[in-house]
Amino acid sequence: MNIDYQKIMEISSTAKQTQMGGRSQIEAQQLGNLRRLVEKVRRKSPLFAELYEHAPPSDTVQLQDLPITRKPELMIEFDRWLTDRSLTRARALEHMEDMSNLGVPINDCLVYRTSGTSGEPLIVASSIYALFELPQGVEAVRTDEAQMAKFQKLSDELKNGTGVPVAITGGNGHFAGNTMTQLMQNLNNGPSNFAFISAEEPIEDIVEQLNAFGNVPSIRTYPSVLSILIREKEAGRLHINPISLSLSGETLTEELRQRALTVFPDAFLSSAYSSSECVLLGKECSHGRFHLNEDWVVLEAVDENEQPVADGVLSDAVLLTYLANDVQPFIRYKMGDRVRFYTDPCPCGSPFRSYRVEGRQATILHIGDVALSALAFDLEHEQASRVQLVQTGERAFEIRAEIRAGADVAAVFDKIIAEVQDLLRDNGVSDAVIRKSHQAPKLGNSGKFQEVVPIN
Ligand SMILES: [Zn+2]
Repeated sequence: MNIDYQKIMEISSTAKQTQMGGRSQIEAQQLGNLRRLVEKVRRKSPLFAELYEHAPPSDTVQLQDLPITRKPELMIEFDRWLTDRSLTRARALEHMEDMSNLGVPINDCLVYRTSGTSGEPLIVASSIYALFELPQGVEAVRTDEAQMAKFQKLSDELKNGTGVPVAITGGNGHFAGNTMTQLMQNLNNGPSNFAFISAEEPIEDIVEQLNAFGNVPSIRTYPSVLSILIREKEAGRLHINPISLSLSGETLTEELRQRALTVFPDAFLSSAYSSSECVLLGKECSHGRFHLNEDWVVLEAVDENEQPVADGVLSDAVLLTYLANDVQPFIRYKMGDRVRFYTDPCPCGSPFRSYRVEGRQATILHIGDVALSALAFDLEHEQASRVQLVQTGERAFEIRAEIRAGADVAAVFDKIIAEVQDLLRDNGVSDAVIRKSHQAPKLGNSGKFQEVVPIN
Protein backbone atom coordinates (compact mmCIF):
# COMPACT_ATOMS: atom_id res chain seq x y z
CA MET A 1 0.00 0.00 0.00
CA ASN A 2 1.41 3.36 -1.03
CA ILE A 3 0.74 7.04 -0.48
CA ASP A 4 0.50 9.09 -3.67
CA TYR A 5 2.96 11.91 -2.97
CA GLN A 6 2.44 13.36 -6.45
CA LYS A 7 -1.23 13.76 -5.62
CA ILE A 8 -0.38 15.41 -2.28
CA MET A 9 1.79 17.96 -4.13
CA GLU A 10 -1.04 18.72 -6.54
CA ILE A 11 -3.44 19.19 -3.61
CA SER A 12 -0.93 21.57 -2.00
CA SER A 13 -0.57 23.56 -5.17
CA THR A 14 -4.34 23.98 -5.59
CA ALA A 15 -4.74 24.77 -1.87
CA LYS A 16 -2.11 27.48 -2.15
CA GLN A 17 -3.72 29.05 -5.21
CA THR A 18 -7.07 29.06 -3.45
CA GLN A 19 -5.57 30.81 -0.43
CA MET A 20 -3.83 33.44 -2.60
CA GLY A 21 -7.09 34.09 -4.41
CA GLY A 22 -8.65 35.32 -1.14
CA ARG A 23 -12.27 35.07 -0.08
CA SER A 24 -13.84 34.90 -3.54
CA GLN A 25 -11.57 32.07 -4.61
CA ILE A 26 -12.09 30.19 -1.33
CA GLU A 27 -15.86 30.44 -1.62
CA ALA A 28 -15.83 29.40 -5.29
CA GLN A 29 -13.67 26.39 -4.49
CA GLN A 30 -15.95 25.38 -1.63
CA LEU A 31 -19.07 25.66 -3.77
CA GLY A 32 -17.51 23.67 -6.61
CA ASN A 33 -16.44 20.91 -4.22
CA LEU A 34 -19.88 20.86 -2.63
CA ARG A 35 -21.71 20.55 -5.96
CA ARG A 36 -19.42 17.73 -7.11
CA LEU A 37 -20.00 15.88 -3.83
CA VAL A 38 -23.78 16.37 -3.94
CA GLU A 39 -23.90 15.04 -7.50
CA LYS A 40 -21.90 11.95 -6.56
CA VAL A 41 -23.88 11.10 -3.42
CA ARG A 42 -27.16 11.53 -5.28
CA ARG A 43 -26.01 8.96 -7.83
CA LYS A 44 -24.32 6.50 -5.49
CA SER A 45 -25.92 6.70 -2.04
CA PRO A 46 -29.53 5.48 -1.97
CA LEU A 47 -30.09 7.30 1.31
CA PHE A 48 -28.79 10.64 0.02
CA ALA A 49 -30.65 10.23 -3.27
CA GLU A 50 -33.81 10.10 -1.19
CA LEU A 51 -32.78 12.90 1.21
CA TYR A 52 -31.95 15.22 -1.71
CA GLU A 53 -34.91 14.27 -3.88
CA HIS A 54 -36.47 17.73 -3.63
CA ALA A 55 -33.24 19.75 -3.40
CA PRO A 56 -32.27 21.97 -6.38
CA PRO A 57 -30.18 20.45 -9.20
CA SER A 58 -26.59 19.68 -8.17
CA ASP A 59 -25.11 22.42 -10.40
CA THR A 60 -27.10 25.19 -8.67
CA VAL A 61 -27.49 23.77 -5.15
CA GLN A 62 -26.33 25.75 -2.09
CA LEU A 63 -25.42 24.19 1.25
CA GLN A 64 -28.44 25.72 3.01
CA ASP A 65 -30.78 23.94 0.57
CA LEU A 66 -29.77 20.61 2.08
CA PRO A 67 -31.31 18.95 5.13
CA ILE A 68 -29.44 18.55 8.42
CA THR A 69 -28.27 14.98 9.11
CA ARG A 70 -27.84 13.31 12.49
CA LYS A 71 -25.88 10.28 13.67
CA PRO A 72 -28.75 8.12 15.01
CA GLU A 73 -30.74 8.35 11.77
CA LEU A 74 -27.69 7.78 9.58
CA MET A 75 -26.54 4.78 11.61
CA ILE A 76 -29.97 3.11 11.27
CA GLU A 77 -29.64 3.54 7.50
CA PHE A 78 -25.94 2.63 7.38
CA ASP A 79 -26.37 0.14 4.54
CA ARG A 80 -27.99 2.81 2.33
CA TRP A 81 -25.60 5.60 3.38
CA LEU A 82 -22.23 4.79 1.77
CA THR A 83 -21.40 5.40 -1.89
CA ASP A 84 -19.28 2.23 -1.83
CA ARG A 85 -22.19 -0.19 -2.04
CA SER A 86 -20.13 -3.22 -1.06
CA LEU A 87 -19.15 -1.77 2.31
CA THR A 88 -22.00 -2.81 4.58
CA ARG A 89 -22.37 -2.49 8.32
CA ALA A 90 -21.90 -6.26 8.70
CA ARG A 91 -18.69 -6.15 6.69
CA ALA A 92 -17.36 -3.18 8.66
CA LEU A 93 -18.17 -4.81 12.01
CA GLU A 94 -16.59 -8.09 10.95
CA HIS A 95 -13.44 -6.26 9.85
CA MET A 96 -13.20 -4.44 13.19
CA GLU A 97 -13.60 -7.61 15.24
CA ASP A 98 -10.05 -8.54 14.33
CA MET A 99 -7.36 -6.25 15.78
CA SER A 100 -4.89 -7.42 13.14
CA ASN A 101 -7.06 -5.51 10.63
CA LEU A 102 -6.19 -2.22 12.34
CA GLY A 103 -5.05 0.27 9.68
CA VAL A 104 -5.80 -2.26 6.91
CA PRO A 105 -8.15 -0.82 4.29
CA ILE A 106 -11.19 -2.42 2.67
CA ASN A 107 -11.39 -1.24 -0.96
CA ASP A 108 -8.94 1.62 -0.25
CA CYS A 109 -11.14 2.68 2.70
CA LEU A 110 -10.12 2.77 6.33
CA VAL A 111 -12.93 1.69 8.63
CA TYR A 112 -12.96 2.63 12.30
CA ARG A 113 -15.40 3.66 14.96
CA THR A 114 -15.89 6.15 17.75
CA SER A 115 -15.67 5.08 21.38
CA GLY A 116 -19.36 5.74 21.82
CA THR A 117 -19.05 7.94 24.92
CA SER A 118 -22.08 9.87 23.67
CA GLY A 119 -24.44 7.11 22.63
CA GLU A 120 -24.11 4.53 19.90
CA PRO A 121 -20.65 4.32 18.32
CA LEU A 122 -20.37 5.83 14.86
CA ILE A 123 -18.80 3.63 12.19
CA VAL A 124 -16.63 5.74 9.89
CA ALA A 125 -15.40 4.81 6.42
CA SER A 126 -12.84 7.11 4.89
CA SER A 127 -10.62 6.82 1.84
CA ILE A 128 -6.87 7.25 2.31
CA TYR A 129 -7.34 10.40 0.24
CA ALA A 130 -9.83 11.95 2.71
CA LEU A 131 -8.03 10.65 5.79
CA PHE A 132 -4.42 11.33 4.89
CA GLU A 133 -3.51 12.67 1.43
CA LEU A 134 -5.86 15.65 1.34
CA PRO A 135 -5.22 16.76 4.97
CA GLN A 136 -1.45 16.44 4.39
CA GLY A 137 -1.57 18.42 1.16
CA VAL A 138 -3.75 21.18 2.55
CA GLU A 139 -2.01 21.56 5.91
CA ALA A 140 1.40 21.75 4.27
CA VAL A 141 0.52 25.16 2.84
CA ARG A 142 -1.64 26.49 5.68
CA THR A 143 1.21 27.31 8.05
CA ASP A 144 2.10 30.88 8.97
CA GLU A 145 5.66 32.23 8.83
CA ALA A 146 6.35 31.95 12.55
CA GLN A 147 5.34 28.30 12.45
CA MET A 148 7.25 27.65 9.24
CA ALA A 149 10.56 28.59 10.86
CA LYS A 150 9.93 26.10 13.67
CA PHE A 151 8.86 23.35 11.27
CA GLN A 152 12.05 23.93 9.32
CA LYS A 153 14.09 23.36 12.48
CA LEU A 154 12.21 20.11 13.12
CA SER A 155 12.62 18.84 9.60
CA ASP A 156 16.39 19.62 9.66
CA GLU A 157 16.64 17.74 12.92
CA LEU A 158 14.83 14.74 11.45
CA LYS A 159 16.95 14.73 8.30
CA ASN A 160 20.33 15.07 9.97
CA GLY A 161 19.86 13.89 13.49
CA THR A 162 19.54 10.54 15.12
CA GLY A 163 16.33 11.52 16.84
CA VAL A 164 13.26 9.33 17.08
CA PRO A 165 9.87 11.00 16.63
CA VAL A 166 7.34 9.43 18.98
CA ALA A 167 3.58 9.00 18.96
CA ILE A 168 1.94 8.23 22.30
CA THR A 169 -1.64 7.33 21.57
CA GLY A 170 -3.87 4.59 22.70
CA GLY A 171 -6.89 2.55 22.26
CA ASN A 172 -7.88 -1.07 22.47
CA GLY A 173 -10.02 -0.93 19.40
CA HIS A 174 -10.46 0.39 15.91
CA PHE A 175 -10.46 4.11 16.77
CA ALA A 176 -9.35 6.95 14.52
CA GLY A 177 -6.07 7.70 16.33
CA ASN A 178 -4.59 4.23 16.40
CA THR A 179 -6.00 3.39 12.96
CA MET A 180 -3.95 6.32 11.60
CA THR A 181 -0.86 5.28 13.55
CA GLN A 182 -1.11 1.71 12.25
CA LEU A 183 -1.81 2.89 8.70
CA MET A 184 1.45 4.87 8.76
CA GLN A 185 3.30 1.71 9.80
CA ASN A 186 1.58 -0.43 7.15
CA LEU A 187 2.51 1.91 4.30
CA ASN A 188 5.41 1.04 2.03
CA ASN A 189 6.33 4.69 1.64
CA GLY A 190 5.00 6.24 4.86
CA PRO A 191 6.44 9.32 6.56
CA SER A 192 9.86 8.90 8.21
CA ASN A 193 9.78 6.19 10.80
CA PHE A 194 8.53 7.00 14.23
CA ALA A 195 8.21 5.04 17.44
CA PHE A 196 4.84 4.25 18.90
CA ILE A 197 4.22 4.01 22.64
CA SER A 198 0.85 2.92 23.91
CA ALA A 199 -0.82 5.45 26.22
CA GLU A 200 -2.10 2.49 28.23
CA GLU A 201 1.36 1.60 29.51
CA PRO A 202 2.31 2.57 33.07
CA ILE A 203 3.81 6.06 33.18
CA GLU A 204 7.12 4.78 34.54
CA ASP A 205 7.49 2.56 31.46
CA ILE A 206 6.59 5.39 29.09
CA VAL A 207 9.20 7.62 30.75
CA GLU A 208 11.80 4.87 30.63
CA GLN A 209 11.26 4.35 26.89
CA LEU A 210 11.42 8.07 26.14
CA ASN A 211 14.64 8.43 28.13
CA ALA A 212 16.11 5.42 26.34
CA PHE A 213 15.51 7.08 22.94
CA GLY A 214 17.54 10.02 24.23
CA ASN A 215 16.84 12.38 21.39
CA VAL A 216 13.08 12.73 20.86
CA PRO A 217 12.55 15.72 18.55
CA SER A 218 8.79 15.41 18.38
CA ILE A 219 5.90 13.89 20.27
CA ARG A 220 2.36 13.47 19.02
CA THR A 221 -0.13 12.79 21.80
CA TYR A 222 -3.21 13.88 23.79
CA PRO A 223 -3.18 16.82 26.22
CA SER A 224 -3.92 14.43 29.14
CA VAL A 225 -0.71 12.51 28.37
CA LEU A 226 1.23 15.76 27.98
CA SER A 227 0.12 16.86 31.44
CA ILE A 228 1.63 13.71 32.92
CA LEU A 229 4.86 14.14 30.93
CA ILE A 230 5.12 17.70 32.28
CA ARG A 231 4.93 16.42 35.83
CA GLU A 232 7.59 13.80 35.08
CA LYS A 233 9.83 16.48 33.60
CA GLU A 234 9.26 18.80 36.58
CA ALA A 235 10.20 15.97 38.94
CA GLY A 236 13.44 15.40 37.04
CA ARG A 237 12.57 11.87 35.92
CA LEU A 238 12.03 12.65 32.24
CA HIS A 239 15.10 13.83 30.35
CA ILE A 240 13.97 14.51 26.78
CA ASN A 241 13.72 17.98 25.19
CA PRO A 242 11.34 17.74 22.22
CA ILE A 243 11.19 20.64 19.80
CA SER A 244 7.70 19.79 18.62
CA LEU A 245 4.63 18.76 20.60
CA SER A 246 1.56 18.01 18.46
CA LEU A 247 -1.62 17.71 20.41
CA SER A 248 -5.08 16.59 19.45
CA GLY A 249 -8.03 14.58 20.67
CA GLU A 250 -8.76 16.78 23.66
CA THR A 251 -8.81 20.50 24.39
CA LEU A 252 -5.42 22.04 25.13
CA THR A 253 -6.09 24.51 27.95
CA GLU A 254 -4.11 27.74 28.26
CA GLU A 255 -2.85 26.60 31.67
CA LEU A 256 -1.46 23.37 30.22
CA ARG A 257 0.14 25.24 27.33
CA GLN A 258 1.94 27.57 29.76
CA ARG A 259 3.14 24.69 31.93
CA ALA A 260 4.40 22.85 28.83
CA LEU A 261 6.32 25.90 27.62
CA THR A 262 7.93 26.29 31.05
CA VAL A 263 9.31 22.74 31.20
CA PHE A 264 9.90 22.28 27.46
CA PRO A 265 11.13 25.80 26.57
CA ASP A 266 12.42 24.75 23.13
CA ALA A 267 9.18 23.12 22.10
CA PHE A 268 6.78 24.31 19.48
CA LEU A 269 3.25 23.39 20.54
CA SER A 270 0.68 22.81 17.89
CA SER A 271 -2.85 21.94 18.67
CA ALA A 272 -5.25 20.49 16.15
CA TYR A 273 -8.98 20.11 16.36
CA SER A 274 -10.17 16.96 14.70
CA SER A 275 -12.92 14.43 15.02
CA SER A 276 -13.42 10.89 13.77
CA GLU A 277 -15.62 12.31 11.00
CA CYS A 278 -13.03 14.82 9.79
CA VAL A 279 -9.35 15.05 10.69
CA LEU A 280 -8.97 18.44 9.01
CA LEU A 281 -11.26 20.55 11.23
CA GLY A 282 -8.66 23.07 12.22
CA LYS A 283 -5.08 23.69 13.17
CA GLU A 284 -4.01 26.46 15.48
CA CYS A 285 -2.09 29.40 13.99
CA SER A 286 0.61 31.24 15.91
CA HIS A 287 -2.09 33.55 17.30
CA GLY A 288 -3.85 30.67 18.98
CA ARG A 289 -6.87 30.55 16.68
CA PHE A 290 -8.14 27.57 14.74
CA HIS A 291 -8.55 28.31 11.03
CA LEU A 292 -11.12 26.45 9.03
CA ASN A 293 -9.93 24.98 5.72
CA GLU A 294 -13.07 26.28 4.08
CA ASP A 295 -12.25 24.93 0.64
CA TRP A 296 -12.77 21.43 2.08
CA VAL A 297 -14.57 21.81 5.40
CA VAL A 298 -17.65 23.77 6.44
CA LEU A 299 -18.62 24.23 10.08
CA GLU A 300 -21.92 25.96 10.78
CA ALA A 301 -22.31 27.21 14.35
CA VAL A 302 -25.91 26.59 15.47
CA ASP A 303 -28.07 27.02 18.56
CA GLU A 304 -30.12 24.35 20.33
CA ASN A 305 -32.80 24.60 17.62
CA GLU A 306 -30.19 24.07 14.88
CA GLN A 307 -30.53 27.70 13.79
CA PRO A 308 -27.37 29.64 12.86
CA VAL A 309 -25.77 31.79 15.56
CA ALA A 310 -23.87 35.00 14.79
CA ASP A 311 -20.07 35.18 14.83
CA GLY A 312 -18.88 35.89 18.37
CA VAL A 313 -21.66 33.80 19.91
CA LEU A 314 -20.91 30.41 21.46
CA SER A 315 -22.81 27.71 19.60
CA ASP A 316 -24.66 24.75 21.13
CA ALA A 317 -23.62 22.46 18.30
CA VAL A 318 -22.00 22.52 14.86
CA LEU A 319 -23.00 21.19 11.48
CA LEU A 320 -20.01 19.59 9.78
CA THR A 321 -19.63 19.22 6.05
CA TYR A 322 -16.48 17.41 4.92
CA LEU A 323 -16.21 17.84 1.17
CA ALA A 324 -13.42 15.29 0.64
CA ASN A 325 -15.14 12.20 2.00
CA ASP A 326 -17.20 10.97 -0.94
CA VAL A 327 -17.45 7.42 0.44
CA GLN A 328 -19.46 8.25 3.55
CA PRO A 329 -21.04 11.67 3.13
CA PHE A 330 -20.98 13.93 6.17
CA ILE A 331 -23.01 16.86 4.92
CA ARG A 332 -24.56 19.28 7.44
CA TYR A 333 -23.91 16.56 9.99
CA LYS A 334 -24.69 17.57 13.55
CA MET A 335 -21.97 17.27 16.20
CA GLY A 336 -22.20 18.33 19.85
CA ASP A 337 -19.01 20.42 19.81
CA ARG A 338 -19.35 24.07 20.73
CA VAL A 339 -17.49 26.72 18.77
CA ARG A 340 -17.27 30.49 18.66
CA PHE A 341 -16.21 32.20 15.44
CA TYR A 342 -14.09 35.33 15.74
CA THR A 343 -15.67 38.51 14.42
CA ASP A 344 -12.39 40.08 13.26
CA PRO A 345 -9.71 38.93 10.82
CA CYS A 346 -6.82 37.06 12.45
CA PRO A 347 -3.56 39.00 12.91
CA CYS A 348 -1.73 36.08 11.26
CA GLY A 349 -3.16 37.25 7.92
CA SER A 350 -4.94 34.04 6.98
CA PRO A 351 -8.01 34.65 4.81
CA PHE A 352 -9.72 31.63 6.37
CA ARG A 353 -12.33 32.13 9.07
CA SER A 354 -11.05 31.56 12.60
CA TYR A 355 -12.73 30.16 15.68
CA ARG A 356 -12.21 28.67 19.10
CA VAL A 357 -13.52 25.35 20.30
CA GLU A 358 -14.92 25.33 23.80
CA GLY A 359 -13.91 22.16 25.60
CA ARG A 360 -16.40 19.39 25.49
CA GLN A 361 -18.65 19.60 28.55
CA ALA A 362 -16.64 19.12 31.74
CA THR A 363 -17.38 15.92 33.63
CA ILE A 364 -19.87 16.54 36.43
CA LEU A 365 -20.19 14.36 39.54
CA HIS A 366 -23.62 14.16 41.13
CA ILE A 367 -23.72 13.29 44.83
CA GLY A 368 -27.27 13.68 46.09
CA ASP A 369 -28.17 17.30 45.36
CA VAL A 370 -24.56 18.35 45.06
CA ALA A 371 -23.05 18.69 41.58
CA LEU A 372 -19.29 19.01 41.39
CA SER A 373 -17.12 19.65 38.36
CA ALA A 374 -14.27 17.20 37.85
CA LEU A 375 -12.04 20.26 37.68
CA ALA A 376 -12.61 20.83 41.41
CA PHE A 377 -10.51 17.78 42.27
CA ASP A 378 -6.76 18.00 42.51
CA LEU A 379 -5.74 14.36 42.35
CA GLU A 380 -2.03 14.78 41.92
CA HIS A 381 0.37 13.17 44.36
CA GLU A 382 4.13 13.28 43.97
CA GLN A 383 4.44 9.55 44.68
CA ALA A 384 1.75 8.55 42.18
CA SER A 385 1.91 8.84 38.40
CA ARG A 386 -1.81 8.45 37.72
CA VAL A 387 -4.66 8.88 40.18
CA GLN A 388 -8.30 8.24 39.37
CA LEU A 389 -11.46 8.85 41.39
CA VAL A 390 -14.24 6.45 40.40
CA GLN A 391 -17.79 6.86 41.64
CA THR A 392 -19.20 3.41 42.39
CA GLY A 393 -22.45 4.40 44.12
CA GLU A 394 -24.23 7.67 44.81
CA ARG A 395 -22.01 8.34 47.83
CA ALA A 396 -19.38 5.67 47.26
CA PHE A 397 -16.04 6.19 45.57
CA GLU A 398 -12.83 4.38 45.02
CA ILE A 399 -9.35 5.65 44.35
CA ARG A 400 -7.23 3.88 41.76
CA ALA A 401 -3.61 4.87 41.52
CA GLU A 402 -0.35 3.97 39.87
CA ILE A 403 2.10 4.32 42.75
CA ARG A 404 5.80 4.81 42.17
CA ALA A 405 8.24 2.06 43.05
CA GLY A 406 9.59 2.47 46.56
CA ALA A 407 6.73 4.65 47.78
CA ASP A 408 4.72 3.88 50.91
CA VAL A 409 1.56 2.71 49.16
CA ALA A 410 -0.75 2.93 52.18
CA ALA A 411 0.42 6.44 53.04
CA VAL A 412 -0.09 7.68 49.48
CA PHE A 413 -3.65 6.32 49.36
CA ASP A 414 -4.45 7.70 52.84
CA LYS A 415 -3.34 11.17 51.82
CA ILE A 416 -5.29 11.18 48.54
CA ILE A 417 -8.41 9.83 50.28
CA ALA A 418 -8.13 12.45 53.03
CA GLU A 419 -7.88 15.24 50.45
CA VAL A 420 -10.91 14.02 48.49
CA GLN A 421 -12.81 13.64 51.78
CA ASP A 422 -11.97 17.28 52.68
CA LEU A 423 -13.05 18.57 49.31
CA LEU A 424 -16.36 16.72 49.46
CA ARG A 425 -16.96 17.96 53.01
CA ASP A 426 -16.23 21.56 51.95
CA ASN A 427 -18.94 21.08 49.34
CA GLY A 428 -21.53 19.77 51.80
CA VAL A 429 -20.98 16.01 51.37
CA SER A 430 -19.92 14.56 54.71
CA ASP A 431 -21.14 10.98 54.38
CA ALA A 432 -19.23 9.79 51.29
CA VAL A 433 -17.30 6.55 51.56
CA ILE A 434 -13.98 6.50 49.73
CA ARG A 435 -12.09 3.26 49.43
CA LYS A 436 -8.71 2.34 48.08
CA SER A 437 -8.84 0.09 45.01
CA HIS A 438 -6.25 -2.44 44.00
CA GLN A 439 -7.16 -1.97 40.37
CA ALA A 440 -5.01 0.14 38.09
CA PRO A 441 -6.51 3.38 36.76
CA LYS A 442 -8.67 2.57 33.79
CA LEU A 443 -8.26 4.35 30.46
CA GLY A 444 -11.18 5.19 28.21
CA ASN A 445 -11.83 3.01 25.15
CA SER A 446 -9.87 5.34 22.91
CA GLY A 447 -6.89 5.50 25.26
CA LYS A 448 -7.62 8.86 26.86
CA PHE A 449 -7.34 9.21 30.60
CA GLN A 450 -10.12 10.66 32.71
CA GLU A 451 -9.21 11.60 36.30
CA VAL A 452 -12.77 11.59 37.58
CA VAL A 453 -15.22 8.92 36.43
CA PRO A 454 -18.85 9.47 37.42
CA ILE A 455 -21.15 6.51 37.94
CA ASN A 456 -23.02 7.22 34.72
ZN1 LIG B 1 -4.53 33.10 12.57
